[in-house]
Amino acid sequence: MSDLRELYQEVILDHNKSPRNCRVLDEPDARHAEGYNPLCGDRLTVYVGTDGDVLRDVSFTGEGCAISQASASLMTEALKGLTRAEIEKLKDAFIKLVTTGETTNVDLGKLRVLGGVHDFPMRVKCATLAWHTLNAALNNDRNTATTE
Ligand code: ZN
Repeated sequence: MSDLRELYQEVILDHNKSPRNCRVLDEPDARHAEGYNPLCGDRLTVYVGTDGDVLRDVSFTGEGCAISQASASLMTEALKGLTRAEIEKLKDAFIKLVTTGETTNVDLGKLRVLGGVHDFPMRVKCATLAWHTLNAALNNDRNTATTE
């Protein structure tokens, strides 16, 4: 179990150091939303490019703690090519995992590495910020998504 924790830690540190899809999505029909976690000071912008119901491309920019950056990076990797319904399922399962530590029958893949966050209530919002911001981008919500 501690080996697993160490491995998970390594994945998080790697995604923080070399975040994936960390760029502005420069497409004419791309949408974006801002997210802010006042508890920690994390700020994210999430960009989405959709093809009908499918999330064709997703990226982010921002600054904040290692958990918020790694979570955004892992999220963008996990969601490309999925439909809104598939994304909703993953989002619910992910938020349940990081808030309660409980897993469901939804396969979270690499996103599982953030499961340990539920032991640190202060960091839960760092992990969920990217997902709230994604939601706002998909819904074309102009208000800043906050974790409060
Ligand atoms: Zn944070």
